[in-house]
Amino acid sequence: MVQRIVIVGGGAAGWMTAAAMTASRRGRGSVELVESEEIGIIGVGEATFPSIRAFNERVGIDEAEFLRATHGTYKLGIEFRDWHSVGDRYFHTFGNFGSLLGPYMLWGQYRRMADASLGEFGEQCLPTAMAMQGRFVVPDEDGGAPYKYAYHFDATLYAAFLRDFSMRRGARRIEGRIVEVIRAENGDVKRLRLADGREVEGDLFIDCSGFASLLLGRAMKEPFVDFSRWLPVDGAWACPCERVGEALTPYTRATALEGGWAWRIPLQSRTGHGHVFSSRHIDPDVAREQLMAQLDGKPLTEPRLLRFTTGHRERFWVRNVVALGLSSGFLEPLESTSIFLIQTNLAHLMTLLEAKAPLDETAIADFNARGAREFRRIRDFIILHYCLTARRDSALWRDMATMDLPDTLAYKIDLWRHHGVLHQQQDEGFDETSWLAIHAGMRHWPQRTDPVLNELPLDHARDILQRRREAIARAVAPLPPHHAYLARLMNLAQGAQRPAR
Ligand SMILES: Cc1cc2nc3c(=O)[nH]c(=O)nc-3n(C[C@H](O)[C@H](O)[C@H](O)COP(=O)(O)OP(=O)(O)OC[C@H]3O[C@@H](n4cnc5c(N)ncnc54)[C@H](O)[C@@H]3O)c2cc1C
Repeated sequence: MVQRIVIVGGGAAGWMTAAAMTASRRGRGSVELVESEEIGIIGVGEATFPSIRAFNERVGIDEAEFLRATHGTYKLGIEFRDWHSVGDRYFHTFGNFGSLLGPYMLWGQYRRMADASLGEFGEQCLPTAMAMQGRFVVPDEDGGAPYKYAYHFDATLYAAFLRDFSMRRGARRIEGRIVEVIRAENGDVKRLRLADGREVEGDLFIDCSGFASLLLGRAMKEPFVDFSRWLPVDGAWACPCERVGEALTPYTRATALEGGWAWRIPLQSRTGHGHVFSSRHIDPDVAREQLMAQLDGKPLTEPRLLRFTTGHRERFWVRNVVALGLSSGFLEPLESTSIFLIQTNLAHLMTLLEAKAPLDETAIADFNARGAREFRRIRDFIILHYCLTARRDSALWRDMATMDLPDTLAYKIDLWRHHGVLHQQQDEGFDETSWLAIHAGMRHWPQRTDPVLNELPLDHARDILQRRREAIARAVAPLPPHHAYLARLMNLAQGAQRPAR
């Protein structure tokens, strides 16, 4: 058994790891976390993916307490503006398109009909219809929820919340700046030296040191697999602003701009804004001005510049070092997948640590292969948002529309375009409904579909889709606005029941 676990870094990755380990290792071995307040955490990363709920539940975090502590809001998905063409919009919600993907292939019927009276494609999807009207309730999960949801939160408050949570469960926090990583002859990391001369020893080191990648990158020199030829964005300006008005959108907004895209993330206390850009395609000062023109209200701080390269370390686990979070790699934040990747790799690591079998090279190789696959799958999904664009109004969009795609993505696009098939591979982060949402949103419909589609008489198909749209509209109309639902939840005493629908 691994006795002494040392986590390097106290951002979301570090404290999520500490929370998971103290939840399951109570009374066995030790969990220590070294962080430096002087260096601080990245503090962005406000939008998440539905799997975060499973993480919170697994470690025993109460939803209302968590939302109150992090100024959180609910997220049904993302609204994409101007991605296909300027003035256009679509949603990717964490929906259940249900029978749209079923035996009648209703998405295909919708397309075959091309009938304006059927409304937007999103109106055939319950969470998208909710998002369009700014409504939210936690779904009834008995018998399978019709949609999933995630959260928006203040990333700094999230790390602080997890820190208190983990320390109450026995994690030990060591404040200090690491100045040296001392290794044994066999290549293992033996101990860390801090600026004040103290040393921290461990058996297993979890590198959560952010972009510094102190152990895996700097000390062990693990090569970096660069994705920037497909995902060229390499910088972001981030700037929170005052919240304006009562309404809170239950979704993130991503607006495509000349040299990148801007995020808008509503929190209870403020609205997060940022502009992710490619410095090959736009001058960072111009990107900054474009961000400031996007703000909802008065800026609360000066905009902050962050630089990065998209990609990941070739291996995530080398000798006795495992990297999680930004130290292992970064895909751009378009689909809010960083915390999701921390979570999946952490879950895999926990399974291995908790297994009775000793850790061997095969398990570690599998961990690394799977981690790399997950990065590649999500990379492909993110590229899909760009490469289907009809925009040609700036160098970025012209490049994205004409670039050579990774083979794995080119194959998937081909299958969809020529056969209407949504092909899934091993370890996909996004399922078929997500791929359908992007294809449909980018108006990328198959040229040829299964002839079985034509077996359903047109009138019958139209009737099904009309009734489906009406049923969704009837279900959404009585739901509370997101801000009202959240306000009631926040005002409730802890332990009280959820607000009524
Ligand atoms: C522009 C941008 C937008 C993003 N948006 C999203 C999003 O919407 N959703 C999402 O899921 N993710 C997002 N992310 C990613 C997200 O911010 C991170 O995945 C998440 O915050 C975890 O970061 P981390 O813990 O790996 O690193 P950090 O938060 O940077 O933490 C690193 C830690 O290591 C410590 N450290 C570093 N060097 C030393 C040293 N020498 N000695 C001691 N301690 C040290 C630091 O003090 C800190 O505690 C975004 C990232 C960027 C850049």
